[in-house]
Amino acid sequence: MLAKIKQFLGMEAKPKELASKEEVEKVAEEKAKPRIGYVHLSGCTGDIMSLSENYDILAELLTNMVEIVYGQTLADVWEMPEMDLVLVEGSVCLQDEHSVKELMEAREKAGLLVAFGSCAATGCFTRYSRGGQQAQPNHESFVPVGDLVKVDCAVPGCPPSPEIIAKVVVAVINGDMDYLQPMIDLAGYTEAGGSDLQYKIVNQALCIGCGTCAMACQTRALSMTNGRPELNEDRCVKCGVCYIQCPRSWWPADRINKDLGL
Ligand code: SF4
Ligand code: SF4
Repeated sequence: MLAKIKQFLGMEAKPKELASKEEVEKVAEEKAKPRIGYVHLSGCTGDIMSLSENYDILAELLTNMVEIVYGQTLADVWEMPEMDLVLVEGSVCLQDEHSVKELMEAREKAGLLVAFGSCAATGCFTRYSRGGQQAQPNHESFVPVGDLVKVDCAVPGCPPSPEIIAKVVVAVINGDMDYLQPMIDLAGYTEAGGSDLQYKIVNQALCIGCGTCAMACQTRALSMTNGRPELNEDRCVKCGVCYIQCPRSWWPADRINKDLGL
């Protein structure tokens, strides 16, 4: 993956850089514009709304820093072109032939495929949709995009914060592997359960008691007790949302140990 990103970017990795307005302008001046596509599958549209909340840098991002070559309402094209990077928002509905084909085509035509937000990365709340709605009565099964195609990087959050989105774009253009590596590690994490949170975060003394996991859990399998999440395993459907949205899962104990050479 590192070699692939470096090859795509044509540059060496650099230390982490913040996505301030000045930084974005600097990157925009110096780097070739990557060709970016946006595929919107099943979700609430919160991810792209969060992207648009980067008020002070959005114009710079979209006009000078990247070239948007594909995306509903973003680019006036019918055919999907070759892309350096595609952001995929939402899970994929297996009964929706158009969505499945669009995802497959995006995988073929994009150098890097990013699962953008928790619906794309783990299925998030769409996993609990069982169809029957008047408009789409046959839409029953929603799965993470990683169940159908290879995902290179997963950006967590429901939705990801505007700051994280801007930093990811800057990191991809800069080849900043320090920033991207945890999200590359998360890309294969579509089946984590509440017990992963217990073993890898709480038991490793990484939990900061923020409560994000309990708020993210759709089945109320997690509750906060004495500042720590408590799991009711009978309610856990192993959707992985609590794990991917826990801020400490970005830097799990094994990775900290590796970084420290332990
Ligand atoms: S505890 Fe909740 S959010 Fe976590 S995997 Fe289980 S059902 Fe999903
Ligand atoms: S999201 Fe992570 S850090 Fe926050 S309470 Fe849950 S386990 Fe602890």
